[in-house]
Amino acid sequence: MALVESALDPATAVRREVVAAGEPWMGSLSEGQHFRIVDLRGNQAVDTLFYRAQTLEERYSAQDTIREQGGLYLTSGSVLLSNECNPMLTIVADTCGRHDTLGGACSAESNSVRYALEKRDMHSCRDNFLLALAHLGALYGRDFNKRDLASNINFFMNVPVTPQGQLTFADGISAAGRYVEMRADMDVTVLISNCPQLNNPCNAYNPTPIEVLVWEAP
Ligand SMILES: [Zn+2]
Repeated sequence: MALVESALDPATAVRREVVAAGEPWMGSLSEGQHFRIVDLRGNQAVDTLFYRAQTLEERYSAQDTIREQGGLYLTSGSVLLSNECNPMLTIVADTCGRHDTLGGACSAESNSVRYALEKRDMHSCRDNFLLALAHLGALYGRDFNKRDLASNINFFMNVPVTPQGQLTFADGISAAGRYVEMRADMDVTVLISNCPQLNNPCNAYNPTPIEVLVWEAP
C-alpha cells in the first residue's frame, strides 16, 4: 500500500478539535473542503458515518463504494460513494494505509455476542451515533433513530480478509500521528464515534483521543 502525505499545514485549518476517547463528534463540510482525522496516540478506531447535508436519506454506502472501486479496503484514491452512487468524499492523503468498511459499528448487541453477556451495557459506537442523531434530529425538527444508521467506515481499523473470505479483527497497523484526509465532493454531515470499545484488539483495548481538522478548498 502506498502512503500519501498531505501538503496542508495544520496551522491554516479553519477548524481544529480534539475528540476525547469514546466520545461522539458531529460536523458539516462544504463541497471542496478538506477533512483530516489524526490518530493522535495510534491504533484508535474511528467509526464514521457520512450523510448528504440537510438530509439523511442519501448517505455513505459501503456496498456501492466496494463494488465501484473493486476492492475491500479504503485508502488514498478511494471515492466514498453514496447509496445513490454519487461521490461524497475522496481520500486524498493517507499515512496509515488501510481503513475498514466491513466490520460495522460496535453495539450493545455485538458487545454481548462477541464478548460476554455482561458486556452488553458497555458504552458502544451505536449508542454514540444514536446520541448524535438525536441532536441532529432536534436541529432538523425530525425524529432520527436506528433506521437512519447505515454502513459506516472504521478509520484506522485493521480488518484483513483471509483468502478463504473470513474477516479477522487484527492488531492495528496505525501509529501515533498517522492521519487520513478527504476532500468533500458534496456538502456532507459527518458523524463520528471515537470508538469507546474496551474489548477489541484493534485499539489495543484502550480508546484514545483523535484530532479533526477542516481546511477551506485549497
Ligand atoms: Zn465502536
